[in-house]
Amino acid sequence: MFTERLDRVRSSMATLGVDAVLLSVGSDLPWLIGYEAMALERLTMLVVPADGPATLVIPAFEVPRVVERPDLFRIDGWGETDDPIDRVVAALGASGRLAIGDHTWSRFLVELQRAVPSATWTTAGEVVGALREVKDEAEIAALQRAASGVDRIAGALQRGEIPLIGRTEADVSAELSRRILAEGHARVNFAIVASGSNAASPHHHAGDKVIGPNEVVLCDFGGTTQEADGTPGYCSDITRCVYTGSPPAEFAEAYGHLQEAQSLAVAAATVGTAAGAVDKVARDRLALADLDQWFLHRLGHGIGVEAHEEPYLVEGNDEPLAAGNAFSIEPGFYIADRWGARIEDIVVATDSGPRALNTASHDLAIVEA
Ligand code: ZN
Ligand code: ZN
Ligand code: ZN
Repeated sequence: MFTERLDRVRSSMATLGVDAVLLSVGSDLPWLIGYEAMALERLTMLVVPADGPATLVIPAFEVPRVVERPDLFRIDGWGETDDPIDRVVAALGASGRLAIGDHTWSRFLVELQRAVPSATWTTAGEVVGALREVKDEAEIAALQRAASGVDRIAGALQRGEIPLIGRTEADVSAELSRRILAEGHARVNFAIVASGSNAASPHHHAGDKVIGPNEVVLCDFGGTTQEADGTPGYCSDITRCVYTGSPPAEFAEAYGHLQEAQSLAVAAATVGTAAGAVDKVARDRLALADLDQWFLHRLGHGIGVEAHEEPYLVEGNDEPLAAGNAFSIEPGFYIADRWGARIEDIVVATDSGPRALNTASHDLAIVEA
């Protein structure tokens, strides 16, 4: 798998005229060689020259953490008094056009720009990110496993098996987090619990508020799995809303429109459709009920080894969806001081149509506990 990915990176470098790719912290590196750099002040950087072997420049004492793959890259461990920038420059060979990982600390980029003044720079997103956007069968299967895990949690929430009334949002968030880990994820990326008027804030931070009866409770949660060999896996991300009692007609009606907007957008996410056009389908449907003014964010984001990545389903993105793109479809409405709602599924564009990986019910579940 890694060999094939490295080959694809090299051929894309040739097409784009990139002489070397430099990857540090972030998701490109684990996607490419199965190793995740620690976000520390000591530089870890994989150097992939267009011709010549790849080199992982890494603090010497972290070498034991690396699963060695000598067919893919050699390891250059640097000591505490060595200059890692020198090591990177040595591994580069000829400079030219260099693509550096999007999440690399700017400090290292600035030092590299000083060390190789003749180089021109672009982002690794242009090279590696573009490849990561198209998932193969194994990646889709991994995303499906992650999605099924959080689907089971959503089901428990909808059946009232996760008590809500009388608990703080933070407490429920902690339970969702424990369940995410129990469902085979290696880490929790977020577990938003927003009740009542807090649901009007799309990224509400679960806090001390005690969940009461007759409130909407918006839960948006997900994590990252781990492959059997310990390499970082794929992300899950789901949003479901429940109501602690019987919802007022006005809310139930708005929620019904949201439900329709969400399923219309899923159906519209076909191969060849511009990402921005899918966003518009949801927005136009919400506009019929005058709810589009409260739909405050883009429709969705790509997902893979990173929770948010390309392609973004947002107005102005004219890129057509490709088979193998995986992304969220998550319209919502957020009415300040009142309430809010969102429904989110992960969807894969396939040649036989959009395939939703999440299958938990979209209905507004009424829970009385
Ligand atoms: Zn979000
Ligand atoms: Zn989400
Ligand atoms: Zn999302």
